Amino acid sequence: MKKTAVLPAWGRVLRGRTPLLSLEITKECPLRCPGCYAYQPEHLNNGVALRQLRDLRGRELVDGVLAVVRHFRPIHVSIVGGEPLVRYRELDELLPKFDSMGIEVQLVTSAVRPIPAHWAALKCLHLVVSIDGLQPEHDRRRAPATYERILKHIAGHSLIVHCTVTRQQVARDGYLHEFAAFWSARPEVRKIWFSLYTPQEGEVSEERLTPDDRLAAVRQLAAVRTAFPKVYMPDVVLRGYLDAPKTPADCMFAKLTTCVSADLSTLVTPCQLGGKPVCSECGCIASAGLAAIGNFRIAGVVPVSRIFDWSMTLGRRLASGNTPGNSRVQALAG
Ligand code: SF4
Ligand code: SF4
Repeated sequence: MKKTAVLPAWGRVLRGRTPLLSLEITKECPLRCPGCYAYQPEHLNNGVALRQLRDLRGRELVDGVLAVVRHFRPIHVSIVGGEPLVRYRELDELLPKFDSMGIEVQLVTSAVRPIPAHWAALKCLHLVVSIDGLQPEHDRRRAPATYERILKHIAGHSLIVHCTVTRQQVARDGYLHEFAAFWSARPEVRKIWFSLYTPQEGEVSEERLTPDDRLAAVRQLAAVRTAFPKVYMPDVVLRGYLDAPKTPADCMFAKLTTCVSADLSTLVTPCQLGGKPVCSECGCIASAGLAAIGNFRIAGVVPVSRIFDWSMTLGRRLASGNTPGNSRVQALAG
């Protein structure tokens, strides 16, 4: 969320709504990435795995998504999966509608299949392509969405490359620099984002960063952004990586975002990662960025996050009793 979106977001909060919506538009994905949080058995925190949900398609999906969006009236929708491009036909109908509704849409994809060329004309759409490191590692982790395919499928688009920094990447001197150099040189890439790997409670994995790795990652990213202007890594985000929220209750991003899974009825909590993420090791660029906005003090006194908290309480009270007519949305509204 940009600083200019703070006022519209606040307006939504005062009406008892969350201004950000994250939508797992499908449970399907042709990839099997190691460390994928969406397919962890605990992702939905209700004993049901994502792949067991009944997801929707065709008219039912289009109408269902529109009902959810009309209910929450977000200013920003993040479309994730599974792999959203599996539902490109439905998106073909939904995206122009979002465009005309003035909703910003971030579509996070592996670019495993071609991105329709005409989507390049949609003003609302921000394509984010997830890339897990340099070609040898990425191709091993994310086949069939290999570098070769991605380069073919992004031609003609303008997009953001997103890399989740893992322990292995930090350990190899110059790795992030090399990554930024490769993608900066691509004309399709307008921005490069780096998140840090966020583990789940009790997780023992090769990807999980130690506190020293985190420090090293922040230092490396500070150097990389200087060398490559396409790398978006403001100080506030770097500071956020070193001082992540302690719990979801401290996380402005989690509080302002409603995350809905592929059946359009199940909520993903506490944030889009689901399960039990270790907030103190959060590396989510959106969470770090929003924390920075939240820490900004109005008139040098009251933090924005405090005002949002008060407004949320007030907005929910005012909105209670105001239930929509769609049963799926009623389930979401709880
Ligand atoms: S592309 Fe995304 S949803 Fe699919 S397996 Fe990889 S991380 Fe998970
Ligand atoms: S893991 Fe990160 S984004 Fe999720 S609730 Fe915790 S701090 Fe927020």
